[in-house]
Amino acid sequence: MTKERLFIYDVTLRDGAQTQGVDFSVADKQQIALALDALGVDYVEGGWPGANPTDTDFFADRPALGKAKFAAFGMTKRAGRSISNDPGFAAVLNAPCDAVCLVGKTWDFQVDVALEIPRSENLESITQSIVAVKEKGREPLFDAEHFFDGYKANPEYALECIKAAWEAGAQWVVLCDTNGGSMPNDVHEIVCEVLEELPGIRLGIHAHNDTEQAVAVSLEAVRAGARQVQGTLNGLGERCGNANLCSIIPSLMLKEPFASRFETGISTDQLKTLTRASRMLDEILNRASGRHAAYVGPSAFAHKGGLHSSAMLKDTRTYEHVPPESVGNRRKILVSDQAGRSNLLARLADAGIDGDAKDPRISKLLEDIKQREYLGYTYDGAEASFELLARRALGEVPDYFEVDSFRVIVERRHNALGELTTVSEATVRVRVDGESYYNVDVGHGPVDALSSALRKDLGKYSSYLSDLKLTDYKVRILTAGTEAITRVMVESKDGNGVRFSTVGVSENIVDASFEALVDAIYLKLLRDGAKP
Ligand SMILES: [Zn+2]
Repeated sequence: MTKERLFIYDVTLRDGAQTQGVDFSVADKQQIALALDALGVDYVEGGWPGANPTDTDFFADRPALGKAKFAAFGMTKRAGRSISNDPGFAAVLNAPCDAVCLVGKTWDFQVDVALEIPRSENLESITQSIVAVKEKGREPLFDAEHFFDGYKANPEYALECIKAAWEAGAQWVVLCDTNGGSMPNDVHEIVCEVLEELPGIRLGIHAHNDTEQAVAVSLEAVRAGARQVQGTLNGLGERCGNANLCSIIPSLMLKEPFASRFETGISTDQLKTLTRASRMLDEILNRASGRHAAYVGPSAFAHKGGLHSSAMLKDTRTYEHVPPESVGNRRKILVSDQAGRSNLLARLADAGIDGDAKDPRISKLLEDIKQREYLGYTYDGAEASFELLARRALGEVPDYFEVDSFRVIVERRHNALGELTTVSEATVRVRVDGESYYNVDVGHGPVDALSSALRKDLGKYSSYLSDLKLTDYKVRILTAGTEAITRVMVESKDGNGVRFSTVGVSENIVDASFEALVDAIYLKLLRDGAKP
């Protein structure tokens, strides 16, 4: 039986950007767009060109996506204006992209109260806008705002609106549960009714999570006949969030009746990158991962002790609804030492390190990691520090250099022009091959100054460090044991564009940063095969 195709449309960069406390930079958007493309979604919506400087800049330099279509979001043309006289509409229309999704009103109440225009004028505006997108050579999508509420209030008018869009050439009509209050069952019924009234129309679903049912609403819409699903990574979105693609995608691919009836553009191998994509977004946002998130959460496949874990050792299906590897997650058995060891071996294999379960150095490393995690280290987002720790335990890391001391001064003063400036200066004493180096440098801040001073002269190793760049720096205050401590994550990039993260923990933020910086340099030397 040939499977019917479902399309995944991601709105992380538009709706997700509306989340309280989320503020994507252009670089963040680039990174997320590429990750979504690699995951295999069909559409990556970049945002609303012309609506804010970030989105405008992001569209000016559109990401080089492989398979995914790059979409712009905008609004149907303003009432009372011609298309050519609507600069907001023009910004969306002219943005470099493959598809344009236009939001329009479909609820009579919204047309009367919010737009205050005759209902027929709203229909006109929908038709003309979709036609304009089509004529521009972009794929038009119509985002039917408040569709379910509108349909309940006035089904004839709601249908007229989406019919106008469909007949004007929209490739998809996306039914939105904008206020997020619809029940899955109602959505199922309404989607069925729409398909009866407008046979052949291609429907999408865009649900918000205000009753914690956005995923269920989306799946019900698919069961009823919608063939495009919109959502965000990790369910990011304003208020209670959007439909969570990290839950919807695996449910569509691994659960019945969907798995047998449908296929998505995502392969089973790509599905294995889902957890990574989810964690990457958390890292960009500097947030802890949702521990109990379905499928991708760090605890989604964590088992604690007793009967439970002994049954798990016999057959994992006893307590797991799907294999964790299918979504790129990992099983965690929290108390069994043996399982901890197999976890560790799996992590070592990931880092390209062969470990032997019987090797006493592996037991020692396991204890070390447990102790360090207790102290506040985390190796989930800091693979480079993990690799270093593991290779050190196995005796594979030479003592390239030793740091004798460092000092950082931050001075705030008036410069010659009378302007207030803050200057950071760092000095670092290091020893390489028994020879002492005394490095001094300045930087934009204390960490930057330290990083520059540390690398300024490392003798025979200096040449390895010229292409090493610090690309990101994140600080989190946490409580480990009983104390408040600081965890710093540093992301570095080498000349080949390979990024890696290191971690440092201390009561002192500068100390923690320095530890992460030293790890980054060590790892660079190690990977480049520098000879001690
Ligand atoms: Zn939305």
